[in-house]
Amino acid sequence: MIDAPRFCPRCGHALADEMRFNKLHRVCPACNYIHFANPKVAAVVFIQDKGRVLLIRRAVDPERGKWALPGGFVDFGEDPRLAAVREAAEETGLNVEITGLLDVLFGGVTIVIAYAARVIDGILGAADDVDEVGWFAPGELPELAFESTERLISRWISGLHNAEDTVGDP
Ligand SMILES: [Zn+2]
Repeated sequence: MIDAPRFCPRCGHALADEMRFNKLHRVCPACNYIHFANPKVAAVVFIQDKGRVLLIRRAVDPERGKWALPGGFVDFGEDPRLAAVREAAEETGLNVEITGLLDVLFGGVTIVIAYAARVIDGILGAADDVDEVGWFAPGELPELAFESTERLISRWISGLHNAEDTVGDP
């Protein structure tokens, strides 16, 4: 098990791998504490303006140098909507407002909650674990990080095409 603790956080005894609830867990033989490996949850914002989407370039690994939607991990006890707003402000300098839920994507270890959002105010500028921010039209997209980013962007692009098709219909 990756990142599994070796010692019981409750009593300090060494943990052992045991079957519980039909799955292998780290269990404390002394006090019966069971370690549950929980998924990580990230929240991202999809902000579009004048046919362009707001992206950030990652200054840290994983996927350093590639572009993604503003966002990050949800803190323990934090509302994911507030996490998305907080991360957007930290990374882009913009205050944003959530306008809807786009999707929930499963990325193996991480579950990504994608919100639609709009800019309220602020001055665009990269900060935190980001070294560049920018608006991109579908035809000028940079190299993207993460499969979740790719999926959300490609769905956005096909949505734009469908909208164009609809406009011309009688
Ligand atoms: Zn214990």
